[in-house]
Order: sequence, then structure tokens, then C-alpha cells
Amino acid sequence: MQPFVYDALPARVVFGSGTLAQLKAEAERLGVCRALVLSTPGRGEEQAYEVAAQLGDLSVGIHAGAVMHTPVEATEQALQVVKELRAGAVVAIGGGSTIGLGKAIALRTDLPQIVIPTTYAGSEMTPIFGETKGGVKITQRTLKVLPEVVIYDVDLTMGLPASIATTSGMNAMAHAVEALYARDRNPVISLMAEEGIRSLAGALPRIPEDPHDPTARSDALYGAWLCGTCLGAVGMALHHKLCHVLGGTFNLPHAETHTIVLPHAVAYNAPAAPEAMERIARALRAADAAQGLFELAGRLGAKQALRDIGMPEDSIEQAVKATLAAPYWNPRPLEEAALRSLLTRAWNGDPPQA
Ligand code: NAD
Repeated sequence: MQPFVYDALPARVVFGSGTLAQLKAEAERLGVCRALVLSTPGRGEEQAYEVAAQLGDLSVGIHAGAVMHTPVEATEQALQVVKELRAGAVVAIGGGSTIGLGKAIALRTDLPQIVIPTTYAGSEMTPIFGETKGGVKITQRTLKVLPEVVIYDVDLTMGLPASIATTSGMNAMAHAVEALYARDRNPVISLMAEEGIRSLAGALPRIPEDPHDPTARSDALYGAWLCGTCLGAVGMALHHKLCHVLGGTFNLPHAETHTIVLPHAVAYNAPAAPEAMERIARALRAADAAQGLFELAGRLGAKQALRDIGMPEDSIEQAVKATLAAPYWNPRPLEEAALRSLLTRAWNGDPPQA
């Protein structure tokens, strides 16, 4: 056994079907009153009304102003609402965008957060906070943004369209995949990572087949919780760096970018992380980790080429340079030619190759 440091993060997780009904009791347990409900506009706002109704007299209102990648302008507007309504807590319902807004408020005010995730992105389990200022996304790690309570209600994920559920699930899996070869990996998080991949790999193909299958949705949400815990606990590597560069520079959609890049990043790292590859392949029930991920994405009907989600071909070079300019630690050293080939394959939608 390799030496390791295991740093457990505080978390209270309520998981199940119909768990939204426990929201008021959880808010009372935390001692919060005057809770402001946060969401994205549109469909998210409808769910926010449901949440506010559950909170009853503990709710002071709804702010449906969350925006992808947490621009500071959106945070400033929300802070104004917090001030006007004298909010004493935030309740975020939605995906990573809404959870990001809750974290932005908590960072600046120390207000407690209750989070009700409706996608599989995993932000709710992490002390990581990213925000965009002047078009540049900056990420920091601080316990100030870690939510006090996370309520996973499978019922709220039933309406997540299959196309979003599947790519969001692949995004979650990416956290667990990189946790298995992280520099600071440890046996507890590796157990969660393997179980998270196994649960998602089993559940995701069942969602497009039958979007109303509660077991598939429950298994996927359980896997997403485990994968989010991995993201919060250990460092990420090349795959997350590439997605950060591609999302930030070319404004590519978050979950789809993860889905396309993951098999290629895994193939790149395969020679340097054989034990992780064995565990990923075992969890996928596949002969090879990278090929298994590529085939899973194909089976899910996900887009498999960066060119199909809006990346211009002549920007591959820019992405290679940006990745090398500020690299994350990676099990295999970053080699310019191999990175160019990785991104070219991902751009074309070719199968992964080490
Ligand atoms: P998102 O929150 O933007 O949601 C994606 C889409 O799904 C939105 O249109 C949303 O309205 C819709 N949606 C969400 N739940 C739904 C439901 N139940 N039914 C129908 N539609 C629903 O995207 P995301 O992928 O969840 O999160 C991406 C963002 O989160 C990015 O900005 C990313 O950087 C951030 N993120 C942060 C961390 C972290 O640890 N800080 C971790 C993961 C992701």
C-alpha cells in the first residue's frame, strides 16, 4: 500500500425519492430562517417555486438569476437581492450553474447553503469555486463554499432530458476517473471512484431507453454523488485541464466537452497509470478503459467530436498552447505533439489512441 493522506470533508447528505419534503426540517435543524431560493430562469424557476412552497414561512423569495460559469455580474445582482430581502441562508435548486451562484454568495457573506442538485455535475460536494470575470474563469478552493446540507431527491431528476442526463453523467464519471490516478489519491476515495463509475455506467444507458425508470435515475444520482465527492477530495489532471481550457476559451458546453474529451485523456494517461486503468475498465465492465468510455458515450448517443459542439479546427493549436502554459499535475508528462494528436482525434470524433 502506498502512503497516503486522507482528509474527510464535512458533509450532510440526504438521499432518496421524495426527500424534498425534508427540506423544511433540514433548514430548521440548521437554524436558518429567511432563506432565499436560487435557480436558473425557465424550467429551473418552476422547481424553485416548489422549493419555496416546501420552505413555507422560512422562504423570503426566489432569485432565478443563475448563469453558466458564474459571471460576477450575476453574483452582484444576487447579492443585491440577498441584501434587500435580508436573507439568512440560500437554498440552491438546479445544476452546477445554480450551485455556483450559491457558492458565490456564501464566499462573500458566509451564509449557510442547502443545495438540491438536479444534474450530475457534482459541484455540491466540493469546496471548489469557479467564477468568470471579464471573460476569464478563475477557480479557487475554500471550505467557505462547501454546502452545509445536500438533499438529493431522485424525483427532481426524473425530468432531466435524457440527452442532458447522459452527458452530465459522463461529466461526473470524469471526476472519478481522474481521482483514480490523482497524485494525492487515497484508498477511500478510490473505492468511491470505482463504485461511482460502476453505478453510472450501469445506469446511464437505461435512461434513454426508459426516461421514467426510477431505478436508473436513482443509480445515476447515487453514482454522481460519489463522483462529486471524488472531485472535492483529490486533485484532477489532464482531462479537467483540457475541459477547462476548451470551455473557457471557446465557450463550449460543459458536460458535452467532458463526454468527448474523456476517452482521449484516459488513453493518453493509460501507459502511466496501469492500476487506475484496470479499475476503470473493471467498473465499466470493458476490456480497455479508454475504449470502454468511448463505446459508452457512443451507446448513449452523445456527440463524440469537438467540431460538432462548436470548436473551430484552427483553434486546436491555441488549446495545446493554453494547456501547456499552465498545466495541472498529470501522471504522464505533457508532450506537445501527443497533445496535438489527442485534440485532433477528439476534434474529428476518432476513437481514442494512446
Ligand atoms: P447547468 O447547471 O447549467 O444545467 C444544465 C442545463 O440543465 C440547464 O439548462 C438547466 O436549466 C437544465 N436543468 C438542470 N436540472 C434540470 C432538470 N432536473 N430538469 C430539466 N432541466 C434541468 O449545468 P451543469 O452541467 O449541471 O453544471 C455546469 C457548471 O457547473 C459549469 O459552470 C461548471 O464549471 C460548474 N461545475 C462546478 C463544479 C465545482 O466543483 N465548482 C463542479 C462541476 C461543475
